[in-house]
Amino acid sequence: MQDFGKLLEELGAIKRGHFELTSGLHSEFYVEKFRLLEKPEISTIFCKNIANRFADKAIDTVAGPTTGGIIIAYDVARYLGKRAIYAEKENGKRVFRRGFDIKPGERVLVVDDILTTGGSIVATAKAVEEKGGEVVSLAVFVNRSSGDVSLPYYLYSVYSLSIEKYEPGNCPLCKKGIPLETPGSKHL
Ligand SMILES: [Zn+2]
Repeated sequence: MQDFGKLLEELGAIKRGHFELTSGLHSEFYVEKFRLLEKPEISTIFCKNIANRFADKAIDTVAGPTTGGIIIAYDVARYLGKRAIYAEKENGKRVFRRGFDIKPGERVLVVDDILTTGGSIVATAKAVEEKGGEVVSLAVFVNRSSGDVSLPYYLYSVYSLSIEKYEPGNCPLCKKGIPLETPGSKHL
């Protein structure tokens, strides 16, 4: 059994420190998914885990949202011997362009890298249903929602990361005087 948490920390995909999240809250952990996605030989272990979980389910197609979801849908579909498609952003929702068709009743597994709010993956699932497809399940590499989102679909996660979030005025890391990092911001 793989220790996925250890693997993610070794890659730097899960960083420990003192971070300001986009929500403005502080956290000891930060997830940088591209440290995982840039390593095909490691991300494929996660994709294989998802494929194994759904190997005995009737699935016609694997779909994911751009950008990370393209890579994951492609690799999971390769293991399952199925088709891979992806949904792009358009006017605040997700749509299948490029002639990606879904037939009525087609059974679709919807995948993505990290589940935080579930916004992109749920929008992709809705796009599947809009085309008449049936969403079998959602599946992600890392669920870091800490259970504070409720999803209208079944969710499978290879790894779940429980992240405590703190108000800036009530943050134990601030009290310890650990320097605050703001990941993703541009320092020029
Ligand atoms: Zn803090």
